[in-house]
Amino acid sequence: MIGRWYKTNKKVGQSEVGVWLVSHKPELAERLLEKMEKIFRFYSEIYTAYPLPTLTYLEFPNDYAAWNGFLKVVFMRESATWGILDDIEFIAHEMAHNWWPNYIGLRRNEELDLDGEAFCDFSAALANEFLFGSVKKQERAKESVWFMAYPEEKHQKGRLLLHNLRLIYGDQLFFKWITNFSKNYKGRRAGVEDIFAMAPQKEGFDLNGFLKNWVQVKIPPVFELKYEKNKTKSGNRHEIMVTIHQHSNPLARWHIPVLIRSKDAEIQKVLELTGEITKSRFEIEFEPEEVLLDPNYIIPKRVPEFQKYADVLVLIDATAFPLIFKKNYQDCLPFLFKALELDEENAETHYLIGRAYKSLNQSDKAKGFFSTATAKTLGWYMGNRYTTDQLHVYSHWELAQIFLKERNYNLARKNLESILKKPDIEGYHAKASDELDKIKNF
Ligand SMILES: [Zn+2]
Repeated sequence: MIGRWYKTNKKVGQSEVGVWLVSHKPELAERLLEKMEKIFRFYSEIYTAYPLPTLTYLEFPNDYAAWNGFLKVVFMRESATWGILDDIEFIAHEMAHNWWPNYIGLRRNEELDLDGEAFCDFSAALANEFLFGSVKKQERAKESVWFMAYPEEKHQKGRLLLHNLRLIYGDQLFFKWITNFSKNYKGRRAGVEDIFAMAPQKEGFDLNGFLKNWVQVKIPPVFELKYEKNKTKSGNRHEIMVTIHQHSNPLARWHIPVLIRSKDAEIQKVLELTGEITKSRFEIEFEPEEVLLDPNYIIPKRVPEFQKYADVLVLIDATAFPLIFKKNYQDCLPFLFKALELDEENAETHYLIGRAYKSLNQSDKAKGFFSTATAKTLGWYMGNRYTTDQLHVYSHWELAQIFLKERNYNLARKNLESILKKPDIEGYHAKASDELDKIKNF
């Protein structure tokens, strides 16, 4: 590989785990390495020891890379490290590919939707739980309802099957089973039937019957929630009795979130559904106005789905917390400046601040930020909805528009010519040539 990376590594067991970052954030690299070491040990324990001398996290700029878990390499774009302080699922999924199916080959079973991908999704959720523990339990519950909104996504059903089996067998039996299977089939190919052939006995549980039922399981499942609320006897707390009815999948188990809300308070409880009907009782401090089982509440938090509705999207401080501003440029400025503080080299931040000022009719400020944007590359913390070239072209275009309005034809011309020197994206070469034509006599 040729390039400039910040590199760090560590001996873990018989192998060396390495992190190569293009973003030159030594502190982040060390944190990532520390998390990867834990995940590496975790997978080595619940599956089987990693067989190769190295496993390297290789980062590429957002402009150029997607993500992948190859043999010995986890290949990721910069944005993958957003939010790793409390959620490392994305990276853990790609790391898991070095076990599934790279080392423990698993043929896909269409009916059950079970394959190496499903194992990687499952592993990633486990890794998150392992690293962040019970504080993330609610997050895990959210995770398991995402499929309701994305039923078309593959592996969801297979991954949920694994979650279900873990709940049914309990951790001790379940992990012993998966470890035995992994050790037995490492370096080989296996079918899904080979996993089930190694299943432990569990009193009162009929695995074959369960699997037959699972084939019929509908994704998304249909749940119905009913509740009653009362004041507690002592009088200052509130009691809620929740009943959830699973219409389509009476044998399946799920962890799902239930939201209890009043006008100014809201809490989320996690319910484990264990059969056709699940009843639960909660006591809370405030008087609830509604109790919801609402995947829609969770789904909007998934960034890419609603990026398209946002005028400005800010991701700050590696928490991957999306702030969406619809035409509200005044309010988004403080966040954009916070992002600038964190990484003043990011072209996207400068460009968006320019746009905000332009919308607020402060063109001098807008010009300043647009021209800085043309000299920066794409960096961290922001939405990364654009590539560096896009940001440069858009910024030159905005500058040209402002200078044309001010009848400063020299600077307008300079910016339009700069667009022609950039790659021809989205018809900007033609637009810039048109404008240049119009002002050629000024
Ligand atoms: Zn994958």
